Amino acid sequence: VILTVGLGGLAVAILVGFFLAERMLRPIRIAWQRQLEFVSDASHELRTPLAVIQSNLGIVMEHTDESVIENLEWLNNAHGESRRLSKLVQDLLTLARSDSERMPIEQETVNLKNLVEHVHELYETIAEMKGITLAVHAPENVEIIGDRDRLHQLLVILLDNAMKFTEAGERVEIKLNTNKNLAVLTVEDTGLGIAKENIPRVFDRFFTVDPSRSREHTQKGTGLGLSIARWIVDAHRGRIALYSEGLGHGTTVKVELPIGAPHPSQDKST
Ligand code: ADP
Repeated sequence: VILTVGLGGLAVAILVGFFLAERMLRPIRIAWQRQLEFVSDASHELRTPLAVIQSNLGIVMEHTDESVIENLEWLNNAHGESRRLSKLVQDLLTLARSDSERMPIEQETVNLKNLVEHVHELYETIAEMKGITLAVHAPENVEIIGDRDRLHQLLVILLDNAMKFTEAGERVEIKLNTNKNLAVLTVEDTGLGIAKENIPRVFDRFFTVDPSRSREHTQKGTGLGLSIARWIVDAHRGRIALYSEGLGHGTTVKVELPIGAPHPSQDKST
């Protein structure tokens, strides 16, 4: 009887052990699965511009008797795709580093009003060239503790998107306000908007809506901008949300960042 009870106890202990090990390993398995998907999606995304570059340069090489002017279209395509490739590699590196928490987040005092005005200046010429009204509404100084370069990158991502999906005669506005202990940054455009069913997916890595929707075919995005934006906001303990009343009704991205509250320190090794 003692032997039976002992064996029974052992069997239960082994089963419980397996169960616990399985539960402990599950997050690791999910993280590993996510990494595999990321690498596979990234490889796929890297292949597309490379294929375009190769085929366009191939055409140029078949027409060596023609002048550069006659080959300009192919060279232009290859050049455009090589720029996209370089942005893609940069974005992938940022996300891979943020995943492994090897991306340092500085904790410095950042004047958001100055930052907004600086980014506004960067985009003024582009807006003028495109015939878009670019406005800023930042009535007061707002300071937070954060990483100036990353917050600059965040604004650039949001402005890039707003300008990309907005046409001549339309409007983009950057607003900076406060709400209790939060700095509230919004980038609002009257452009193309996003279909309701796609909104929940815009922060997913590699998600882009059919590029033919954006009338600037050459500017096909990487689908990583908003994923990086969300990571930057998370690293500052903030919140980001995107709103659109649907296609043709413009888009608003709202970012809330705690004022003054330092975020948890991160591993600074790069
Ligand atoms: P991308 O590099 O393609 O811009 P993002 O992650 O920044 O990647 O955005 C994902 C998708 O969300 C875009 O492809 C676009 O379809 C949609 N999107 C983002 N911002 C806007 C906007 N301001 N207006 C319309 N669509 C937008």
